Amino acid sequence: MVAYRKLNDVEVTKKKILVRLDLNVPMQDGIVSDFHRVEKIVPTIRNVLKRGGYPILISHFGRPKGKYNSAMSLAPLAPIISAAIDKIPVKFIDDCIGPTTESEINTMNSGEILLLENLRFHPGEEKNDSKFIESLSRLGDIFVNDAFSASHRSHASTTGLAYLMPSAAGLQMEAELTALEAAFEKPKRPLTAVVGGAKVSTKLDVLSNLIKKVDSIIIGGGMANTFLHAKGFNIGLSLCEKDLAETAKIILDESIKEKCEIVLPIDGAVAHQFMAGAPNYIAEINSIADEAMILDLGPKSLQEIKRKFEQSSTILWNGPLGAFEIEPFDRSTNTAAQFAAALTKENKLTSIAGGGDTVAALRKAGAYGDFSYVSTAGGAFLEWMEGKPLPGVEALQKDL
Ligand code: AMP
Repeated sequence: MVAYRKLNDVEVTKKKILVRLDLNVPMQDGIVSDFHRVEKIVPTIRNVLKRGGYPILISHFGRPKGKYNSAMSLAPLAPIISAAIDKIPVKFIDDCIGPTTESEINTMNSGEILLLENLRFHPGEEKNDSKFIESLSRLGDIFVNDAFSASHRSHASTTGLAYLMPSAAGLQMEAELTALEAAFEKPKRPLTAVVGGAKVSTKLDVLSNLIKKVDSIIIGGGMANTFLHAKGFNIGLSLCEKDLAETAKIILDESIKEKCEIVLPIDGAVAHQFMAGAPNYIAEINSIADEAMILDLGPKSLQEIKRKFEQSSTILWNGPLGAFEIEPFDRSTNTAAQFAAALTKENKLTSIAGGGDTVAALRKAGAYGDFSYVSTAGGAFLEWMEGKPLPGVEALQKDL
């Protein structure tokens, strides 16, 4: 169990609280298209305000590479955050360090919220530079990290500040760590992982770690094709990393040693073109035509997944089971997600999911709200699944 100091353990009254958020929300021309991350930051800000603290919000946005870039300013987020917190005004400050920023902070009134400009406009943020860390630390009394999704990076605002200042995990960070630990530390077993997506190459470390920790792994999506190819099946023109066939075999051998069952597709929805509405048919894995592409799982594979879900107490899901963006190849992802959501609602299953495409797929399936926990983090969620320590989380442990 990772031990760390929590926001509710620290005295915040009349203190300046430097809150690291992840405001890297999908935004086009100042218009936010997905409010999910904004909703998640609200509890921590409310908590600080309610207890008489002064919240000073900091975040990165995009990849401006250490230079000012108006398209990546956090200014449009100020009214959006305000609307999410009972219309409390959020004052935007056009730099995140320096004398003007410091004087704005020193003249803050109780009940006010300040939002500082994008941290990554300064090269010191990503370089975890000591001078930049020192300039940021002058802005507050306590550092609160509420950005789990940025905590796989060792940057000034994730690790640097945590080591220099009294620090604590925000409520969102705490919720994320609690949910993720429930999957790996004393999970209710059987524990089944669902790993899908395009490529094995991006999920090799995930699979190697999961094999040691979970009871079974359901492999779906394009990456399943590499395993099928490694096992000697003809997969026609399906997406496949043929050069990883040997690696796939090693993973399969390892899984036997670790007594982790690997569930591969037994049939697929195949088409001759990768496009929405392409004519398609169901084929068994041992009879895929040379010119066919497996774009989704077939009904027999789906039946097997449902059976596995029914036998499981916990599932951990990352990656779609098929080319879910193009209909009808979203069918198995939708059906499996809806099935897991229904079991969760009946209290028969704990369902934890995460990663960019997974969140989108669960939303599309209408299953998002019924999962036990869905992580908003992309890279950080994957690194956590790989079993890697997250530097931003490790840094919070130093205060205990
Ligand atoms: P990832 O980013 O690795 O999670 O992969 C997600 C992508 O994998 C999505 O864009 C899916 O369309 C794609 N994908 C899933 N299954 C297949 C498949 N059988 N063939 C081609 N692409 C797929």
